[in-house]
Amino acid sequence: MGNPLNRRRLLQAAGALIATVPWRSGAQQQQRPIAIADMHSHWGMLRRRIGDSDPAFADELRSQRVALVAWKLIADARWTRSTASGIEQASEPAPGELAAFFDSSFDRMRAYLETHKLKMVLTPADVDACLAGEPGVVLASEGADFLEGRVEALDAVVDKGLRHLQLVHYIRTPVGDFQTQPPVHNGLSAMGKQLVRACNAKGVLVDLAHCMGPAVEQALEISRAPMVWSHGWVDGDGGQWQDPYGYLRRRLSLALAKRIAAQGGVIGLWGLGLSHPRLDYGLIRRDTKAYARELVKMVDQIGPDHVAFGSDIEGVGPNWVLNSYGDLRTVIEHLQGMKLDAAVIDKLAHGNYARVLKRALVPAG
Ligand SMILES: [Zn+2]
Repeated sequence: MGNPLNRRRLLQAAGALIATVPWRSGAQQQQRPIAIADMHSHWGMLRRRIGDSDPAFADELRSQRVALVAWKLIADARWTRSTASGIEQASEPAPGELAAFFDSSFDRMRAYLETHKLKMVLTPADVDACLAGEPGVVLASEGADFLEGRVEALDAVVDKGLRHLQLVHYIRTPVGDFQTQPPVHNGLSAMGKQLVRACNAKGVLVDLAHCMGPAVEQALEISRAPMVWSHGWVDGDGGQWQDPYGYLRRRLSLALAKRIAAQGGVIGLWGLGLSHPRLDYGLIRRDTKAYARELVKMVDQIGPDHVAFGSDIEGVGPNWVLNSYGDLRTVIEHLQGMKLDAAVIDKLAHGNYARVLKRALVPAG
């Protein structure tokens, strides 16, 4: 089932890595490549569509030293469609369908980890172990749609390993308002607020990506643990649902980014590039240098402790800047080339996600 093209690219990437980085054992372990953490990845879910037995994802995590990856199930994937301006709801799920779709998808993800002996990240100690060596997968969901409005349904999913939950995505949800459609809840619903508290209590990292501004503000008032905005970009005034394109609606305002940061949270930069240069958005298709520059800009805006990778690999359609962990390795090399402080590069590459995740994994009543 392996795609020969992907395999070849993987081998090239691994070869390049070995050629540039002296991998030695024992006393010289510190010369291993910088660990990578990614707060938002759909690797193998949309574009590559790996089967259970295809080792490509596991191989890439190992060859590129990806210590932590939030592997995001797309909770509403079956009920959305792409249009010329962005992604929107296409149909209404029948009762039970969202939960059933989640269960079967989540079981497949768990089986993949088992088959390929990838560590499922469940505790702060697991995070440390992954930073020290073995790759770890944080089972995550883009959207809490599978709860179908019932916060109590979270328990069973946490028992199965979910540790990172994005509250909303693209379809109407009882949780709260999202950036790409007109608001109906005035922020988070009562159930959405209860869900934030339940995530804190169960040791699940809350991911605010796609939330409309008032929902972010309410979550910040409620949460006892720092939160992330896993993927997107930061721009002065933030997006409006009336904006003509999805990527514009998905802007996080600088003021809200600073508030998430002030509570110890982290903002991830996505790998959505535009095909043609635009004055108002700097990420150009397949331009990893532009991605590195945008990260540095975010560091200037919200500080080195609050910026991370949120690649959205395979989630950004054909206009990707990053499509593999080899691409993120290249970004790290660009950051080094830009003479960014080594300690700051460590924070962006893995330290900030590791810190916020460890905090969130400790249940807080
Ligand atoms: Zn998204």
